[in-house]
Amino acid sequence: MTGTLYLVPTPIGNLGDISRRCVETLNAVDFIAAEDTRVSLKLLNHLGLKKSLVSYHEHNKKESGPRILERLLAGQSCALVTDAGCPAISDPGEDLVRLCAGSGVPVCALPGPCAAIVALSVSALSTGRFAFEGFLPAQKKERKARLEALRTEERTMIFYEAPHHLRAALADLLAAFGPDRTVSLCRELTKLHEEVLRLTLGEASAYYAENEPRGEYVLVVGGCAPRQAAVSLEQAASLARALVEGGIRTKEAVRQVAEQTGVSKNALYAAVVDGS
Ligand code: SAM
Repeated sequence: MTGTLYLVPTPIGNLGDISRRCVETLNAVDFIAAEDTRVSLKLLNHLGLKKSLVSYHEHNKKESGPRILERLLAGQSCALVTDAGCPAISDPGEDLVRLCAGSGVPVCALPGPCAAIVALSVSALSTGRFAFEGFLPAQKKERKARLEALRTEERTMIFYEAPHHLRAALADLLAAFGPDRTVSLCRELTKLHEEVLRLTLGEASAYYAENEPRGEYVLVVGGCAPRQAAVSLEQAASLARALVEGGIRTKEAVRQVAEQTGVSKNALYAAVVDGS
């Protein structure tokens, strides 16, 4: 009989957040696959557990994954842990789950800490519908394209971000979504210096121009306001012209109205320019 792969969430800061079931599972399995064995060893020492650890991370997953699978197929049980939080969410655990599922090895996910969900719940933004976006692409061009595709996303969006990328990420979010979009910057969750700043993107950029980003962040960004239904090109053009008369540049007015109404930006631009 094959063994089971257990996905065991670990604390994202506060060690008290590990559940009794997670401890029992770590204690019961034949071996533990860890993203960083040194980090997991500290947790196991804290829990008073002694277990055989193997390394499974982004840079060795192609070799390590099949070795873990082989042991599972031979009947051993394995707990997968990452440095913090829920395995398989924005970490290589995803590949091991796919490998096991494809080979008929049972996968059992235990509930527990996940930075995205902790941040969403404390964000004070709408939680009814949300889109988890993980890390934005590192390359500027791809990052911009990703954000452009999200410009009219109406669901609350969740992004993971490292402190050294925070300013660049805020600048790109600001360019894509405008300065008035709400953002909850959730930092060092469950840790001593936990902080949640609920700002607009304009305010957040100004704040971090003055203050050094420190620690781990989850950015929870409010979705785009729902589009007004069935606005004609004529009506959209007169809305845009009113904005232009109020002092907004034509291109920006067209962008805003197209976003709110769903009318094509090019058609709207042509209508505004031709009619003016
Ligand atoms: N699988 C983990 C989870 O779902 O919780 C996330 C792993 S991902 C490699 C690490 C990212 O999670 C960090 O860069 C940060 O964006 C976020 N994160 C983890 N711990 C956090 C914390 N205590 N406070 C804020 N963000 C955190």
